[in-house]
Amino acid sequence: MSDDRRKNKPHKFGFETRAVHAGAAPDPITGARNTPIYQTTSYVFDDVDHAADLFNLQTFGFIYSRLTNPTVSVLEERLASLENGRACVCAASGHAAQFLAFFTLFEPGDEFIASKNLYGGSITQFGLSFKRLGWTCHFVDPFDPENFRLALTPKTKAIFIEVLANPGGVVLDLEAIAVVAQDAGIPLIVDNTIATPYLLKPIDWGADLVIHSTTKFLSGHGTSMGGALIESGRFDWARNGKFPSMTEPEPAYHGLTFHETFGDFGFTMKARAVALRDFGPSMSPANAFYTITAIESLSARMDRHVANAEAVAKFLEAHPSVAWVSYAGLKSSRFHNLAKKYLPKGAGSLFTFGLNGGYDAGIKLVESVNLFSHLANIGDTRSLILHPASTTHRQLTDEQREAAGAGPDVIRLSVGLESADDLIDDLECALAA
Ligand SMILES: *Cc1c(COP(=O)(O)O)cnc(C)c1O
Repeated sequence: MSDDRRKNKPHKFGFETRAVHAGAAPDPITGARNTPIYQTTSYVFDDVDHAADLFNLQTFGFIYSRLTNPTVSVLEERLASLENGRACVCAASGHAAQFLAFFTLFEPGDEFIASKNLYGGSITQFGLSFKRLGWTCHFVDPFDPENFRLALTPKTKAIFIEVLANPGGVVLDLEAIAVVAQDAGIPLIVDNTIATPYLLKPIDWGADLVIHSTTKFLSGHGTSMGGALIESGRFDWARNGKFPSMTEPEPAYHGLTFHETFGDFGFTMKARAVALRDFGPSMSPANAFYTITAIESLSARMDRHVANAEAVAKFLEAHPSVAWVSYAGLKSSRFHNLAKKYLPKGAGSLFTFGLNGGYDAGIKLVESVNLFSHLANIGDTRSLILHPASTTHRQLTDEQREAAGAGPDVIRLSVGLESADDLIDDLECALAA
């Protein structure tokens, strides 16, 4: 999104401006300033030729809301802009967006490498359900980028990481991992849910695809499920013959080749026109509307999330009942230098800590807080508390939990937008109990 009144030097709008405006314009017929919820399943064709062109992907337009919807399209354009990407396709949830990405990339028998430090649901999706589709995930310790290189095989088709990782406190060396992917000729996929594009733009550091669970900080208020898949537009799918799904003729579209026909947004087109079309995990227009509205205040909210998280983390670090705090925004964190490099505006508002009293004290704390809600979400305006080992990371083995930073004593906080003093007071009272 840019302003080209200055013909020779177009002005590129800043992040905050794009968060409010990108992808949206007043409705041309009614003048409605806000993006309407286009609560419709289908769209009238001009004539038979127009319909045929739409179905053949020879013209852009709306056919049926499983594929595209005008409200969802605004969100897609906004997210592509905020991530400095080329194009975006939204999905019903973060997990659905991950499925669209991998279905578009992979053939049965393909492999990929993922960080062990991931959202628990992703570890289960990759390790168990994807396995049944013939896609094998090798999990590696992500703290040494060379571990990704060591795990490469001729069948490896992607690397998947969370840079600022759930359940929190961890920052990976994104630039170094991007080099490994680049050398191997495979895309680096970054789940940027926890950082949001306000704190980190993975594409600027060499990522090829970005995934979001928009359910979290982007929708921001605990109202709406959603996911997004954003492509950088820079990956050359034809360079090494590893991605036949992008370079070979597509039988369902008269032998069209997605890479050749659509170039730098071919991946998004294929994810939409094949994976979304055939599996159907589309985002609802109402959820897109709530998410668009929330993104308008993303920068202001994230600044406040970060300031509150820093205050709460410092309080916990100084408390005698607290054994350790893992928040990359603290000087004591082993990830502090990586956080300064990749997350100069702050290390997010999700982090973990442990109590001297271990498992039992953790359970007691979760049950003693008032203002913090005990639930399995993150990125809400409200502050949230959780014991990952008994909830989000419950399906994992002890070893997987430990590796993912979700051991038995770990408490996870998602710090919201309340007054920091009230949050600290709530934790102080609960710790005293
Ligand atoms: C929640 C989450 C997901 C899954 O997203 P859903 O919208 O719940 O499907 C994936 N990655 C991360 C980091 C998450 O926090």
